[in-house]
Amino acid sequence: MEDIEHIPKELKLIDAKGIRLDGRRADELRPIKIEAGVLKKADGSAYLEWGNNKVLAAVYGPREAHPRHLQDPAKALVQCRYNMAPFSVTDRKRPGPDRRSVEISKVISEAFSAVVFVEQFPRTSVDVYIEVLQADAGTRCAGLTAASVALADAGIPMRDLVTSCASGKIGGVVALDLNKDEDNFGEADCPMAIVPRTGEIVLLQMDGHLTAAEFDEAMELSIGAAKQIYELQRDALRRRFASVAEAAQREAEREPPREEPPREMPPEMPEDLPPEVDDL
Ligand code: UDP
Repeated sequence: MEDIEHIPKELKLIDAKGIRLDGRRADELRPIKIEAGVLKKADGSAYLEWGNNKVLAAVYGPREAHPRHLQDPAKALVQCRYNMAPFSVTDRKRPGPDRRSVEISKVISEAFSAVVFVEQFPRTSVDVYIEVLQADAGTRCAGLTAASVALADAGIPMRDLVTSCASGKIGGVVALDLNKDEDNFGEADCPMAIVPRTGEIVLLQMDGHLTAAEFDEAMELSIGAAKQIYELQRDALRRRFASVAEAAQREAEREPPREEPPREMPPEMPEDLPPEVDDL
């Protein structure tokens, strides 16, 4: 069981002035930092901090899909594995997949399948790994947002990035981006993911209850926040490719290697050698 003894029984998640326990207003995101290209061995990668969430994403592919019976002759598979590290939560999480991580991996795979140009890479697989190093609610949104940057870093052709965010209801108020206490003690949490360029929703889940009007309000908050998060994703990629371009420039400007002096050739041997004395 998670240690929740420190939380008073009658927890007021949002006060009369509309301020939440962590000092945010209802429509405020937690601080987000994204860095692309953090792992050398993966084709693409990203590290993301979102409030107290810390997430690493790595991408490989498109590469030959294994086992081979999974190969699709018409398109690539997008296979995501979401994993929470044993040390990511207060109580050690049992290592390995569980029902929740299998579900999250599936919905994230489906979200990316909607944007990757899968028809261009038949029989292959694009493998997306999300490792949650520290969890504080909203990890599927954080993981998806990081993995999207990692896919772009790997140069996987996509229609657009995917951006994810959740909204929910706490103390009767619709609020953006719930943290762990709000997720545990609030009334509802509704994660979504959007293709910002087209407005297409590629992931939508709900835990708890919202009225239709509250749902609309929650979606409006998430869509507004997704615009800010999209800019942070693009900014991480711009920084990444600026540093790649700088490294290429430095390489090009490096002094060319010194030319070696031409080697002296041995004198040509006459074709018909006179017989050696010993041969006679
Ligand atoms: N959590 C946990 N142990 C678990 C699963 C989840 O402590 O085995 C915590 C973790 O902080 C997670 C939060 O519960 O971020 C909310 O989990 P949820 O299933 O709602 O997914 P998330 O909001 O992280 O996408």
